[in-house]
Amino acid sequence: MTASPTGMPAAASVVIVGTGVAGITAAESLRTNGFDGAIIVFGEEPHLPYRRTALSKGIVDGDLSDAGITLRPPAYWTDRGIDIVTSTRVVDVDPRARRVRLADESDVAYDALVLATGGRARRLPGATSALTSLRSRADVDRIRAALDEGPVVIVGGGLIGTEIAAAIASAGDGTRVSIVEAAPSLLSRVVPAVIADDLISLHREHGVHIHTSAQIASADAGGVTLADGTRLAGTVISAIGMEPEVALAESAGLALDRAGILVDDALRTSMSGIYAAGDVAARPHPLTGAPMRAEQWLTATEHGRLVAMTISTDLGSASSGTPAPRVPLAWTMQYGTNVQIVGWPAAGARVVLDADGSCTTARCFDEDRLVGAVCMGRGGPARQIRDEIEATLRPVGIGA
Ligand SMILES: Cc1cc2nc3c(=O)[nH]c(=O)nc-3n(C[C@H](O)[C@H](O)[C@H](O)COP(=O)(O)OP(=O)(O)OC[C@H]3O[C@@H](n4cnc5c(N)ncnc54)[C@H](O)[C@@H]3O)c2cc1C
Repeated sequence: MTASPTGMPAAASVVIVGTGVAGITAAESLRTNGFDGAIIVFGEEPHLPYRRTALSKGIVDGDLSDAGITLRPPAYWTDRGIDIVTSTRVVDVDPRARRVRLADESDVAYDALVLATGGRARRLPGATSALTSLRSRADVDRIRAALDEGPVVIVGGGLIGTEIAAAIASAGDGTRVSIVEAAPSLLSRVVPAVIADDLISLHREHGVHIHTSAQIASADAGGVTLADGTRLAGTVISAIGMEPEVALAESAGLALDRAGILVDDALRTSMSGIYAAGDVAARPHPLTGAPMRAEQWLTATEHGRLVAMTISTDLGSASSGTPAPRVPLAWTMQYGTNVQIVGWPAAGARVVLDADGSCTTARCFDEDRLVGAVCMGRGGPARQIRDEIEATLRPVGIGA
C-alpha cells in the first residue's frame, strides 16, 4: 500500500456491516477524519439509514415513511463517496483473507471491518406463535394493522413497551391497552422509583391497564394468560428487549459473551482489523470494567465516531477529535413528557430529588459518588450531569 497525502494508506478500504446509526456515523466520521479510501456500508434492510427511535413514538400516527424518518438524502452519501448498499445481507467473514461474503455469494475485501449489526427483538419464551415486536420499519405495518383489531397487550414495561403504550393511549380512540411486566414496577431497570411512579401515573391517567409482578403462563397471537389465570385478550406486542446480532462475529471466531461482541475501550474486537460498534458491542463498563452494551442512540452514534478514530489510528493516519464520552445519555418521550436518562441510575442506591418547576431531576449516588440521573420535563441539567460523571472516570486512550 502507498501512503496518500493524508498519511492514510491510499488503497485502504473499510467495510461496515449495518446501516444503523453506529455504522453510518462510522462512515461519515472516517471521511471527516480524512480517510480517502473506499467506504462500503452494507445493510440488509431495504431502506436508507433512518431514525429507529421514531418507530415506537410514532407507531400510531407518526410519519414513518422515507420522507419522515430517512436520516440523510441519497446525494449526501454520493457526495462523500460513501457507498450505502441496502437490501444486502453479509453472511460470512473470513478474517484471514480479510473478506466478507454477501448473500449472493460475492466477496468483498476489507482492510478494516466494522460490525455494527445492532440486534433483534428478543422472543418471548414459551409463546406458542410468533408475536409482533418492534425493532425495524418492517414491523411497523404489521403493528399498525393490528391496532385496528381491538385491544392491545404489551408484554414488557421497559422504554419501548411504555412508549408504544403511550402512543396508542394518546391516540384517544378508546383502544384498550394493557402492559404486562414481570418486575414489581414499570421501567425499574431504567429509572429510579420516584420517576417510574410519575410515569406510571401518567399511563394510568391515560387509561392504560398495568399488570406488574405478572408472570406469563402462555402467550399466543390472540392474547396472554397470566400465571394467576387472568386472560388478557388482544393483539400481543412483545417488548422484552433485544439480543445482539452476533452471527457474523460467531462465524469469524470473535470473542463474545452474553452481552455481545467483546471490544476494548477503543472498540477493537479480539481480532486484528475487526471492530464492533453500537448496540452489538460490549465495551468495558467505566464503573465496573464488566462488558456492557448500551442500547442507546447517542451511545451508538458516539461509538461510530470512536471506531472511526481507532481505525484511522490503526491504518496509520493521525486521528482527529476526542474520544467519545462513555457516560450514556438516553431519552424517552411519553405523553409529550421528555425524560432524559444519564449514566447508570440503577447503580445508585441513594436518590436525591430536585424539582424546579419545568423539570424534576433525580440524581443517583453510589455512596457519595454521582453515577446517574434522570431528568423529567423540559430544560433539565442532563448534559451538565453527564459531564460531571465523565470527569470522574479514568481516562482511556485509543493508541494502537
Ligand atoms: C423502537 C425503538 C425505539 C428506540 N427509542 C430510543 C430512544 O428513545 N432513545 C434512545 O437512546 N435509544 C432508543 N432506541 C435504541 C436505539 O435506536 C439503538 O440504540 C440504535 O438504533 C442502535 O444503533 P446500531 O447502529 O447499533 O444498530 P441498529 O440500529 O440495530 O442497526 C443495525 C443494522 O444492521 C443490520 N444488519 C444486521 N446484521 C446484518 C448483516 N449480517 N448484513 C447486513 N446488515 C445487517 C440490521 O438490519 C440493522 O439495520 C430505540 C430502539 C428501538 C427499536
